[in-house]
Amino acid sequence: MKNTTKKKRNCNPNLVRARHCYSFAEIAEVYHRHTRTVQTWRREGLQVIDDASKPYLVMGAEIRRFLRQRRQKSRRPLKAGEFFCSKCRCPRKSLPDKLSVEITNKRLGKTHKQAFIRGACEACGQSLLLFSSDRKVKGLLEKTDCFYRNIGRL
Ligand SMILES: [Zn+2]
Repeated sequence: MKNTTKKKRNCNPNLVRARHCYSFAEIAEVYHRHTRTVQTWRREGLQVIDDASKPYLVMGAEIRRFLRQRRQKSRRPLKAGEFFCSKCRCPRKSLPDKLSVEITNKRLGKTHKQAFIRGACEACGQSLLLFSSDRKVKGLLEKTDCFYRNIGRL
């Protein structure tokens, strides 16, 4: 199932140029939003260059900052066995047969090693990657069924 029509999709901060200034109408156009949405962003903390002069203008760098911060807030922590899918823009599980774990020789702290958990989104097929440690992988194996059945084979 594709999710591209979902309206609450996050806005890519890099669509605007940092050193340009943008009117609300231009921002709305870049992100395919209504200008009223951009006005909402201003109430949520998007800083305009000069409050006293209309139309309001916003620096691209500020739009980037605002959108990044907003994305951070809306991100909820992943549960065991979940990945963040960059296409669906939400936490997803992997297709069980696409799961794999690679434990590298890179040390994390004194006793742990870095691990990569790879998978493919169960909703859209996008490849998924999670940085982890050998210890967390073992913890995961104890918690989630399909995850563990697969990793147990490695
Ligand atoms: Zn996905």
